[in-house]
Amino acid sequence: MPDTKNEMKYEELVELYEAMDSTTKRLEKTSLLADFLKMVGDQDPKILAVVTLLSLGRIFPTWSEEELGIGSKLLMKAISLVVGVGVDEVEDQMRDSGDIGAAAQELFKRKVQSTLFRRSLTISKVHQNLVKIADISGGRSQYKKMEILRELLSSASPQEAKYITRTVLEELRVGVGEGTLKDAISQAFIIPKEVVERSLMLTNDLGLVAEVAREEGTAGLQKLTLKPGKPVKPMLAQLSPNYRTTIQEMGYALCETKYDGVRVQIHGEGDEINIFTRRLENISQAIPEITEYIKKAIKPSDFIVEGEIIVTQEGKPISFQYILQRVRRKYEIDRLREEIPLTLYLFDVLYYNQPTLDEPFKDRRRLLEEIVQVIPGKLELSKQVKATPETPEEALDLFNKSIEEGHEGIMLKDPYAPYTPGLRGKKMLKWKATPETLDLVVVGGTYGTGKRAHVIGSFLLALQDENNQLKTLAHVATGLDDKTLLELKEMSEPLITLKEGRRVEMVPSIIMEVAFSEIVKSPEYESGYSLRFPVVKRIRTDLSIEDIDTVERIESMFQTMKIISE
Ligand code: AMP
Repeated sequence: MPDTKNEMKYEELVELYEAMDSTTKRLEKTSLLADFLKMVGDQDPKILAVVTLLSLGRIFPTWSEEELGIGSKLLMKAISLVVGVGVDEVEDQMRDSGDIGAAAQELFKRKVQSTLFRRSLTISKVHQNLVKIADISGGRSQYKKMEILRELLSSASPQEAKYITRTVLEELRVGVGEGTLKDAISQAFIIPKEVVERSLMLTNDLGLVAEVAREEGTAGLQKLTLKPGKPVKPMLAQLSPNYRTTIQEMGYALCETKYDGVRVQIHGEGDEINIFTRRLENISQAIPEITEYIKKAIKPSDFIVEGEIIVTQEGKPISFQYILQRVRRKYEIDRLREEIPLTLYLFDVLYYNQPTLDEPFKDRRRLLEEIVQVIPGKLELSKQVKATPETPEEALDLFNKSIEEGHEGIMLKDPYAPYTPGLRGKKMLKWKATPETLDLVVVGGTYGTGKRAHVIGSFLLALQDENNQLKTLAHVATGLDDKTLLELKEMSEPLITLKEGRRVEMVPSIIMEVAFSEIVKSPEYESGYSLRFPVVKRIRTDLSIEDIDTVERIESMFQTMKIISE
């Protein structure tokens, strides 16, 4: 049996969670976390990476595809076995407490006798068991996963059970997001914030960043860079208030057709090709033709290119919904490949035998043109024109042409801008024909009346603030046909945590793209804003909760829209 005397106990991490949860002040949370990371670094540096991830309730780095694969049903079953009560009772408790962690804590208080003989859990033990769970696949995997979870929970105190269960469901709820953690790493190891920010942007690995920060300081972090095989978050676009102003501000703009499909980052490592979505999910298996096209179009090398995949019929793009049928598909791929043919438009290159993301965009585009052999109709480069302050009509012409061809609008890109992963800056702007939309998460809803009494007819939507805390913004009840309402019912009901009359609260998971006529200030919603005439455009299963829009974006859109309407 390994000597666990000097290893850090899980209860020390639990104390940190509780302390962070007990304050709403971001600076306090940051200091608590910074002190803890420093202490771990001094006492038990080999677990610093793990603690860093666990402090956000994560087990794997963002780029990793590993997941636990435990849903709330299986978790409730494990709790019921450990505590010795029926699953119904766990469900009731969960409904009363409003979240799985609080429910587990209450239930675990009942198994007092066994805690007397309990060996304390170490942070490593908790982490190793969770990793083991993720590693299980194949026959009887659900049973095997539950056995490990049961073993882990049977050594847990009520408070530990609260956080283990929340970590399993990836909902830590202590009000700490990546922003706070980045500040804490910078404070703990005395590193400029921008250096932490950039190294994280390039590696997507908080644990690695903390470890290198402690061991090698600023210079070590500055050496970290992106690598084919590990996806990075995509650079995001803002709304252009007016194309002429944008072109003026940029000096000149490289304008491109904006294709409405699924954004992909394609990584080549020699002969191996991997395709990731903007959620950093590997979808290579589902769309084998894209790998074939890439192998024909780009010579084997180490590269990262980016583009948009759309579905076309006789050269015209068709509805976005078709593409969602392709990207997550596990079966009948050959049939769908025939029925729903894909076209890839490449528009950027982040790596070509070495990182290229710091090169100005115009040079990256030139490189892309050099390394890609276009395959007409299958793999193309985005259509691009140059618009100067003297020739702004170039942008307008491309916009009109793009709309005529059935695309969304255009992008206006700063020719001198580097590629900044994960940031929504002013270096890449969009101009769409249809009004702007927002990606929002459903946090609750209200059942209908009369014929619609069995479905949720109105949804409460939220965006996120800079600490990844959700803030409500609006109710939406328009834009959903009966079929979608039924689909939403199936998706929503397992997520319900509280029911009061017709009103429900839900685990935030379903993301809706919502159009609206206007953003208005409103004290009624937590964000301080609301939407006039919101309409659901589509359910965005291709986005994850981190991708939803932010309060900051609403503020900037509110300002921009004011300018446009003036
Ligand atoms: P939006 O999703 O409305 O914020 O618009 C930005 C998205 O447009 C990007 O995330 C890409 O998926 C997509 N897009 C389509 N065409 C292009 C292009 N030529 N350059 C960059 N992004 C594009």
